[in-house]
Amino acid sequence: MATQQVESLARSALEAGTLGGKEALLILEGLRAPGGLEALTEAAFESKVRGKGEIITVSRNVFLPLTNLCRNRCTYCGFAKQPDSPEAHTYTLDEVSEVVTGGVKTGCTEALMCLGDKPEIAYKRYREWMAETGYESTIDLVHEACKVALEGGMLPHTNAGIMSGEEMERLRPLNASMGLMMETTSQRLRQKGMPHFHAPDKDPARRIRMHEEAGELKIPFTTGILLGIGENDQERIDTLLTLRALSERYGNIQEVIVQPFHPKHDTPMRSQETIQDDEVIAWVALTRLIMGSEMNIQAPPNLAPEMLSRLARAGLNDWGGVSPVTVDFINPEAPWPAIDGLRELTRSSGQKLRDRGPIYPDWLLGRPEFFDSAMHESALRLATDEGYARRPHHQSKEEAA
Ligand code: SF4
Repeated sequence: MATQQVESLARSALEAGTLGGKEALLILEGLRAPGGLEALTEAAFESKVRGKGEIITVSRNVFLPLTNLCRNRCTYCGFAKQPDSPEAHTYTLDEVSEVVTGGVKTGCTEALMCLGDKPEIAYKRYREWMAETGYESTIDLVHEACKVALEGGMLPHTNAGIMSGEEMERLRPLNASMGLMMETTSQRLRQKGMPHFHAPDKDPARRIRMHEEAGELKIPFTTGILLGIGENDQERIDTLLTLRALSERYGNIQEVIVQPFHPKHDTPMRSQETIQDDEVIAWVALTRLIMGSEMNIQAPPNLAPEMLSRLARAGLNDWGGVSPVTVDFINPEAPWPAIDGLRELTRSSGQKLRDRGPIYPDWLLGRPEFFDSAMHESALRLATDEGYARRPHHQSKEEAA
C-alpha cells in the first residue's frame, strides 16, 4: 500500500509539473516500504527526461578559494581557517593567474571563485593585509581575480558568501553566473548549540534577501540545499519550497545543488553520522519533483562515489564542477572522478555526458537579458552553436559526437 501511495503521489506530481510540501512528506513516509524509493526515482527520472532529455552535463572548472578566512564559524566547516593557522591562505593575483593558466591548458572554461564570508569583519591581521595591498574589502580581491580569470580565457562564477546588491551589481559584468547555497531555511539551526549559532551570515532571512537581490539584478544564480547538518524533513521541504518560490518570482535560479554533508575530522561535528546513500537519492528525486522538470538539478559526483549509477537515474541532469587541476577545497578528502569515467558511467545509465560552462546552454542561447552584453559575448565565444562548452584544443571525438 505504501509503495502504491508513493507511486501515485510521485506520478501525480510528474503530471502536475510540481510536488507540494504535504505530498512530499507523505512520500517520505512511504519510502520505508520495499519498492518505495524505486517508485519515487522512476517518476523523478521521467520528469528529468521530459525537461532535459538524455543529457547530463558537467562543467570542467578550476576551484579558486580566494581566501579560506571567514567571519562565520559553522560547526561542520572544515574549509575556514583561523589567521594563525599554517593552512590559512589568501590568493595573490599571480596565484590566480597560475591556476587559470592550468585550467585553460586542460580545457576548463569555468573559474569558480569560492571563499569565506567577509573575513575583514573578524580579523585585524586580514584588515592590515588589505590595507597593504590597497583593497578596501574582500570584494575588491574578488573583482580583481575575476578580471585575471577573464583576461586569461576563463569565465568566472563567484560564490563569496553574502554579498550586498551593490557588490553583486559590481561583479555582474565580470561573472557568467553567481551563487550562494541556501543550505537551509531553518531558523532552529541558528539557535545555541546548533551548527549556525556562530554564523550570522547563515541567517535564513539574510540568505533569502541575497537571492531576491540577485533576482532583481537578473543574475543567473546557483543555489542549493545542504543535507545532514541537523535539519529535519520538514525543514528540508521548507527550504526547497522557498527556492521554488524564489525561482517562480524572479526566474533567475539557474540550478539547484543537492549536497550531502560529509563530517570533517577536525570540526566539532566530526561525530555526526554520514547521511545514507538512499536518503541522498530520495532527496535528489524529491528536489526534481518539487522544482519541476525544467530546473537544472545537480549532485556532486565526488560526494557520492558508491552510488553514482543510481544517482544518474534519480532525477539530476548535472554533475556540477569537476576539475582536472584543483581539488574540492570544501571536501578535500573526496577526489573528483575522472571525466572519462563519468562519461562511461553516464552512458551506461542510458544518457549522454556533455560539457557545459558556468552557464547552461539554454540560458546562454535563450536568455540574453540575464547577462551583461560583453560577458554574453565572452561566454558565446567559449560555446558551441548548441551552447555547450567549446574546447577546441581538448575536444575528443567522443565529446564532439
Ligand atoms: S560560512 Fe562557509 S566558509 Fe564560513 S564557516 Fe560557514 S561553511 Fe565555512
